[in-house]
Amino acid sequence: MNFVNIHTHNSLENGQIGLTDHPLQIPFLPKKGQYYSVGIHPWSVDKFYDVLWKNRLEELADHPQVAAIGECGLDRVVKTSLNLQKKFFISQLEIAEEKQLPVIIHAVHTYSDLLEISKNRNPSVPWIIHGYNGNAETTGLLLRRNFYFSFGESLLKNQKKLNSSFLKVPFERMFFETDESSVPIKSIYKFASDLLNKSIEELQKIVLNNFNCMFAKI
Ligand SMILES: [Zn+2]
Repeated sequence: MNFVNIHTHNSLENGQIGLTDHPLQIPFLPKKGQYYSVGIHPWSVDKFYDVLWKNRLEELADHPQVAAIGECGLDRVVKTSLNLQKKFFISQLEIAEEKQLPVIIHAVHTYSDLLEISKNRNPSVPWIIHGYNGNAETTGLLLRRNFYFSFGESLLKNQKKLNSSFLKVPFERMFFETDESSVPIKSIYKFASDLLNKSIEELQKIVLNNFNCMFAKI
C-alpha cells in the first residue's frame, strides 16, 4: 500500500503518492506520474513585482498534474511585511476557490490569523496546514473551522505538547509529510501509528482514503 506524502519538496519515490511542492517562480516541468501543488511561498512574495503572476497561477491550476494551490501562507518570523504576505495569501486563496483546489498552507506563529481569515472567507475547498505544530487548544479551534493537519518531522521529537495535539485530530483530518527533510515518510507513520495504538497499515489505509476523497482527480 502506498504512503501518502502530502507535501514534499522532492520527487516522490516509489511506494508514495502525494504532492510535490512547486514554487511559481520556477519553470514548471512536471515529471510523468507525479502531482504538484503550485504557489508562492510567503518567503518569496517580495520577488513578484506585478500582478501577472495571478494569470500564471490560474493557468497552471488548470494543468492536469496540478492538484492543489500552495504552499502559500503567513510567517511572522521572516522580515517580509505581513501585509504583503496577506495580500499574496488571500489572492491565492481566491484562485483556489475559483479553481476548486485544496490549499497547502505554511503557517508560522499565525494560527490566529488563519482562524480569522477562515471565518471571514468561509472557504468551500479544504485548507491543509502543513508541518503542523500547534498546541491542543489551537487544534481545537482550527478543527471547528474544518482545517486539515499535516504532521512532519517535528512529530518525531516526541514532545508532549505536539503529541497531545496530534491525538486530538480525528482520522479524517490527518495527513503526513516529509517537507524538506530526508527522514523517510515511513518513520513518521511508524511514530504516529504507535501514538495511536494502530498498525502502520491501518494508518496508511486511513490517510490514503483521506487523500482519495480530497483529490478525486488523481
Ligand atoms: Zn514546504
